[in-house]
Amino acid sequence: MNEQQLQDSICQTLEKKLGTTINEATSREIYIAVSSIVKENLNSEWLQTTKRYKEQNPRTVYYFSMEFLMGRLLESNLLNMHWLEPMKAALTNLGFVPEDIFACEQDAGLGNGGLGRLAACFLDSMASLQIPGHGYGIRYKYGLFEQKIVDGNQVELPDYWLREPYVWETKRPDLTAVICFGGRVETYEENGKMKVSLLDTEKVAAVPYDVPIKGYNNETINTLRLWSAEPLESEDGFYAGDKQSYYDHLESKRSLERISEFLYPDDSNMDGKMLRLKQQYFLVSSGLQTIVKLFKQRTGHSCLKLHEYISIQINDTHPSLVVPELMRLLMDEEGLGWDEAWHVTTNTVAYTNHTILSEALEKWPVPLFSQLLPRIYMITEEINERFCQMVYHDHPEYRSVIHELAVISYGQVRMAHLAVVGSYSVNGVAKMHTEILKRSEMKQFYGLFPGKFNNKTNGITHRRWLMQANPELTSLINSSIGEEWKERPKDLIKLLRYSKDASFQEKLFEVKQFNKQNLARYIKEKTGLIIDDRSIFDVQIKRLHGYKRQLLNILYVINRYLYLKDHPHADIPARTFIFGAKAAPSYHFAKQVIRLIVSAADQINNDASINDKIKIVFLENYNVSLAEMIIPASEVSQQISTAGKEASGTGNMKLMMNGALTLGTLDGANVEIKDMVGSQNMFLFGMEESEIEELHRTGGYSAKSLYQSDKRLHHMINQLHDGFFGRDELAFKDIYYHLLRDNDEYFVLKDFESYVEAQEMIDQTYQQWNKWQEMSITNIAHSGKFSSDRTIMQYASEIWNISPYIPVPAKK
Ligand SMILES: *Cc1c(COP(=O)(O)O)cnc(C)c1O
Repeated sequence: MNEQQLQDSICQTLEKKLGTTINEATSREIYIAVSSIVKENLNSEWLQTTKRYKEQNPRTVYYFSMEFLMGRLLESNLLNMHWLEPMKAALTNLGFVPEDIFACEQDAGLGNGGLGRLAACFLDSMASLQIPGHGYGIRYKYGLFEQKIVDGNQVELPDYWLREPYVWETKRPDLTAVICFGGRVETYEENGKMKVSLLDTEKVAAVPYDVPIKGYNNETINTLRLWSAEPLESEDGFYAGDKQSYYDHLESKRSLERISEFLYPDDSNMDGKMLRLKQQYFLVSSGLQTIVKLFKQRTGHSCLKLHEYISIQINDTHPSLVVPELMRLLMDEEGLGWDEAWHVTTNTVAYTNHTILSEALEKWPVPLFSQLLPRIYMITEEINERFCQMVYHDHPEYRSVIHELAVISYGQVRMAHLAVVGSYSVNGVAKMHTEILKRSEMKQFYGLFPGKFNNKTNGITHRRWLMQANPELTSLINSSIGEEWKERPKDLIKLLRYSKDASFQEKLFEVKQFNKQNLARYIKEKTGLIIDDRSIFDVQIKRLHGYKRQLLNILYVINRYLYLKDHPHADIPARTFIFGAKAAPSYHFAKQVIRLIVSAADQINNDASINDKIKIVFLENYNVSLAEMIIPASEVSQQISTAGKEASGTGNMKLMMNGALTLGTLDGANVEIKDMVGSQNMFLFGMEESEIEELHRTGGYSAKSLYQSDKRLHHMINQLHDGFFGRDELAFKDIYYHLLRDNDEYFVLKDFESYVEAQEMIDQTYQQWNKWQEMSITNIAHSGKFSSDRTIMQYASEIWNISPYIPVPAKK
């Protein structure tokens, strides 16, 4: 549709559907009108795709993830439909600001951070590359909490994102699955075969809500299927229990509905709550039941051939119950024998590992696991038994460590072991991360199954993170190298030709200024702070965690402030330090770091004696939409995790693609950014992973002696204890103890000096205007590698065995 048609359509929809007119409609009503026009238009194409898939039955991948951090969908749908420009024009003609209309949409925040956002980027890439690939997740009633800062502290508010109807979803009650929990297993013989039945279970209905995932510039629409737990309507009307009282019955119904009530808000700590395991089984069982049913309908084959048509990629270990659940379905429901079922399962499931932090590794106590999922536990025991037998007989060299490898040991079910044993592919998410898996974390499994291990460096969709978030930069790129890069992001490399081009540099600078002014306006609105748009915009936006070292950043800022107090006329450029970070509600240390940032901001932003050389901004409620606003305005991208701890990072890629220069350690995908742009185009600092390993091995690090010998560190850390930041002296005691008593687990003090030097390099380089622009262009030019299109192509060819449809470059 063109601009005029869209305009007419908006007016009509307002009248027919919303009973209002363009002159009276609120922004919210305009949003509803626009998005329903879009949804309607998607629906017919969606049906077509589904029909095509049904007829051709192509190899299909199902991406199982407990998290999908989708953000808003109106603008990305418009972009992928090629309606974005005409729709913006139509809205403007009608007297509205398009951005204000888009902002009426609630973020779908069904994820914590990088892992959930990766799943969302992958959906966009699969559809855009025309790969038959669908997402399976949970329709949480409450997404990730909304963060507010009250009196300097993080406060969590429930994110009731479904308050208003969600325009993008379609409920599919006809596809409801029944999920069984608890009960007891009975075995019996039938025709000489052992049979199993599961009795006295608690049942819950899993109702799918489908969201269309529109590919860019093509006719493919895949599906994100989100499952909601609802009470099961039993045959005899109201309730089926006879022993239970009526009220007990209502109570238990309510408890079943709670399964899809909320997202667990911690992305780095395993919380062994029964409800979480219920959520995992709920996702896995509803997804697999549907896949098996559909497979039989479409192919008429027995499930012996399932793996020839289907791959299931699991996003971390959270869905690793797919292994025993698929075994259960194939054996108990489809009548396959163990060996047949095992062959199918281990050729269907592929596992992505996301972390090597030990506190994040999923382990479930046997009593909890076996009580909630008795049949699944039996199967898991058998998997474990057979695996241990196999190791014993075929790999005598590992006999002495069988207990370390086992799926069940020391009274716990280890989900990562289950996922490795039950899958045909195990991948890490960046070169360095995969190497650590092979070399140390999963060394023995790598010895047993070397062929399973592979790397798939993460990526981000350049459509959302460049074309949508930064239309000004997109136009600038188009006007110099054409538009082929939109479908072949590696073509961004053509920008290298312009890295020294004075006119291009000037235009890039103007684009950045424009975006900085935009962010400065937002900051002023939200916080009242006035930011100098000529200052360096230095950002660290990501979940708050010890290993990500926001503490290193803020300690440096405090240090810079103390220096400026002593040298008020020092010739260093003004800097705005921007933070965005949610802490897990139970992560005490992380919350204290937030309080430190906010307290330092209070003190420093209001100290006129440093001539506005430093401003600190903590932006509340970091989420996808906020990221889309901050990233285009960023100049310094802080990626400063303790080397070896950040599996990949994807924020680093988004920022690089928007021309920010990385201040980082050699960790995760920073290593690959360096491989692309060279260390001369970044600001690298700090210990390398091998050095940290060495310190761990030898115990050769003492934070306390560093503190005692280094005057600067001494002075700075004492501030934490002495109530300098307007708080009582206990305010930051956990940080103080973390550093000194607990020996600075993440080497903040150890890397401090090197970090300060890198920061000084940034100050110097920023004053060489041309050089900064050149470095920035070089980073954008090399960022094509980090498009999730590249990542998905690699998954498709190396894991899923699906050949993507290779798009032809777009016509202008
Ligand atoms: C990309 C993204 C992340 C991941 O950021 P990292 O810096 O890689 O940890 C987290 N949250 C949101 C909202 C994101 O968009």
